[in-house]
Amino acid sequence: MKVLKFGGTSVGTPESLRSVRAIVENQPEQCVVTVSALGGITDRLIAAADCAASGGDSYADIYAEICARHRRVCEAVVPSGYLGGAWSGVKTLLDELETILKAINLLGEITERTRDLVVSYGERMSCIIVASMIPGARLAHSLDYIRTRRHFGKSVLDSENTSKLIADKFAGLGSERIIIVPGFIARDTDGRISNLGRGGSDYTAAILAAELNANVLEIWTDVDGFMTADPRIVGNAAVIDALSFVEAMELCNFGAKVVYPPTIYPVFHKNIPIIIKNTFNPTAAGTFIGDTDKTMQTAQALGVSSIADTRLITLRGADNGQYARMINILTRNGIETLLPDGRESCGVRGNDAARAEALLTEEFAGESAADGISISEPQATVALIVRGGGDGQLPANIANALNEAGIPISQAPQQVSAGTVACMISANDHKEALKTIHTNFINTSNIND
Ligand code: ADP
Ligand code: ASP
Ligand code: MG
Repeated sequence: MKVLKFGGTSVGTPESLRSVRAIVENQPEQCVVTVSALGGITDRLIAAADCAASGGDSYADIYAEICARHRRVCEAVVPSGYLGGAWSGVKTLLDELETILKAINLLGEITERTRDLVVSYGERMSCIIVASMIPGARLAHSLDYIRTRRHFGKSVLDSENTSKLIADKFAGLGSERIIIVPGFIARDTDGRISNLGRGGSDYTAAILAAELNANVLEIWTDVDGFMTADPRIVGNAAVIDALSFVEAMELCNFGAKVVYPPTIYPVFHKNIPIIIKNTFNPTAAGTFIGDTDKTMQTAQALGVSSIADTRLITLRGADNGQYARMINILTRNGIETLLPDGRESCGVRGNDAARAEALLTEEFAGESAADGISISEPQATVALIVRGGGDGQLPANIANALNEAGIPISQAPQQVSAGTVACMISANDHKEALKTIHTNFINTSNIND
């Protein structure tokens, strides 16, 4: 049995959906197919919700656009005998969505939970379309078995309950050849709709692959595989043929969007390989992530990735004790610290910055250190991942390359793990820094030797 996951671009248009159908129908074995919302729809749902909350009525235009897109796609791909049923399922959800948007508009505000409810409609609609498009496919709704719990104000997987519920749900589906699952969406412990975070359909697929002991997890997307850098920024990025789980984890943790970071853990623990494949070029080999014999070769730079929105938080003039308290208070409150300099500063993700500042202000209230707290302008955190470990000179070499390119460094390059060196630069220099590091350190001609 295998698990396949098709992202938004793969289920974005009638043409790409026809490729999805061909890929799924060509599988010789039982498969669980996880699907995202139609490409771009999650963003449009968020826009509709925010627009409704701001009190104007332009949300109705976004809603109308969402309806028209689903109607068009449904009519184009669902065989006529199934179209009535499929459209009535999608239309029921669209009607519910309209009622919710009207209620948000009337209230003039939106809570995090209501936003989660609104974004859930993307996957709830796309899974109906995909299940109706493939003859014999059966829908197994993830709202029945993916469970989350709250952790520092964020939804995280409730592994124990999810594991039990998947076992129960899939015990009854043993003989189904094609099972369609909506990615991303979940329910909280109190039964309310939640999700696994943006990009979370990859994670849904990995959770299922691990729980169902799949042979392989295939992530079908819009590029030929895991590349040496984001191809939208670095034009000569090359496909990497194989990565170990740890190498892939490092690249993803530092922002390689092709796989949502938590995806690697469940399959890593069961040693189930991931293959990244291109829906628009299915014969390309893709990238194998798993046990690879390449991990112990001599040092070779594999790829560069980046987190676009980070901030540098500084406690100017901190002594050792105050610096330790700063890192401690952030970590204890579930805020990931990036590139701590060991003296007075560290990075945080952009969406944690306001909370980080508030926590530090509270922690140091009444102490002179409180006057030294500052949050930087947006920064990008850029990381180079090296197979076989760096040679100790890498941080200095990266600093030299950036200096030569005239890019100011805000947090000096440092070895953050055996195979990763990372640094921070202004968000304005993000693309230039990625290109500079890629050009100076990654030899795309020997990346697959
Ligand atoms: P999906 O809709 O299939 O989930 P995503 O947009 O989440 O697709 O991920 C695929 C995109 O990730 C690619 O189109 C590419 O622009 C981007 N990307 C960023 N870093 C990398 C990388 N190192 N290798 C390949 N793609 C990358
Ligand atoms: N549709 C969700 C998103 O856009 C989940 C996913 O595509 O993985 O974030
Ligand atoms: Mg994705």
